[in-house]
Amino acid sequence: MLVVQKYGGTSVGDLDRIRRVARRCLAARAEGHDVVAVVSAMAGETNRLLALTHAIHADPDAREQDVVVATGEQVSVGLLALAIQAAGGSAVSFLGHQVKIVTDSAFARARIQSIEGERIRAALGQGAIAVVAGFQGTDEHGNLTTLGRGGSDTTAVAVAAALGAGACEIYTDVDGVYTADPNVCPAARKLDRIAYEEMLELASVGAKVLQIRSVEFAMKYRVPVRVRSSFSDDPGTLVCAEEDSMESVVVSGIALDRNEAKIALRSVPDVPGVAGRIFTPLAEANVVVDMIVQNVSRGRRQDLTFTVARADLARAAAVVGAAAGALGVRGVDTDGKVAKVSVVGVGMRNHSGVAARMFQVLAAEGINILLISTSEIKISCVIHEKYAELAVRALHTAFGLDRAEPAARGGA
Ligand code: ASP
Ligand code: MG
Repeated sequence: MLVVQKYGGTSVGDLDRIRRVARRCLAARAEGHDVVAVVSAMAGETNRLLALTHAIHADPDAREQDVVVATGEQVSVGLLALAIQAAGGSAVSFLGHQVKIVTDSAFARARIQSIEGERIRAALGQGAIAVVAGFQGTDEHGNLTTLGRGGSDTTAVAVAAALGAGACEIYTDVDGVYTADPNVCPAARKLDRIAYEEMLELASVGAKVLQIRSVEFAMKYRVPVRVRSSFSDDPGTLVCAEEDSMESVVVSGIALDRNEAKIALRSVPDVPGVAGRIFTPLAEANVVVDMIVQNVSRGRRQDLTFTVARADLARAAAVVGAAAGALGVRGVDTDGKVAKVSVVGVGMRNHSGVAARMFQVLAAEGINILLISTSEIKISCVIHEKYAELAVRALHTAFGLDRAEPAARGGA
């Protein structure tokens, strides 16, 4: 079987860890697999390189910045190939343009268009482990590009798809995907499996285990992805296509996004074109709007509320303030202290009453709901940030996600 193993920055954070990764690659090889290792830069390296580009230029050109930041992965692939050789194995490193991973020309956030992979296949054919630089590619003109922060995940999944790999393992510093952030909810449980759709929803609301693009890629090309720790033998969590059994679980996880801010426009004229005049300038200012709620009209006026990323609040408020003035809106209120809690599960498609249950649970804790939005497999409530952790824990318990308490005492 062909196995793609991706190792993140902490897994290759120092030479001892790189040696450990080399042993893991060799163990898979010894089991008879063809092994492709996709590697990130050593922990902290990409940040250090980015800082250098900002230190030398206030507004660094994206093409040149990519040339600099991609070197992190060049170092780690070379070191891993050497570590494998030092342990008696055979390995060849490949940079993005050598693979070759062709992307568009959107520097710093390039998208993969195609992967050739002949050189990887040739190396595997000779019994070597192929060590591939994550995060980088080349555009049609031969310019070096990078895929955005966390992009090595996407490299790994795309390489697995292109080579028809039997498995794609993402080694990271957590041992899998959890029902909630264990730092917020001590009763959180590691999931054995999770559907692509659920992972996308959890990722987009703040569970940052995998780069979102990599999950989209995996879903599109049906690549099963296993998230696991490079520091243990735990099988981790399989991110895969939805299975019938998954629907019996109504809620698979609770996500929390603290990076939210709310803007409310009071008494907006209820005439065609108003929403466009508010949201167009926001889009032009590159403000991403998340939830939008518009009330029923009261005497030709209505309230309009939406959320944006907290870092964008001041900019968004300024843009909206200008538009609101021109439209005769009565007032603009902002609130930077809100959080979004979401319950996610493919089982919601076939079970009713999930929203009602969520609202009851929040009410029982005395938590006021400021905004609600739903999708087929997710219900989100915006609440005051000071209740965020309480809400996650209460929902986690109410939807039966709490881990069974380990035996209080007794030997193993
Ligand atoms: N080294 C890159 C980053 O830190 C890519 C990755 O780690 O996935 O974003
Ligand atoms: Mg990562």
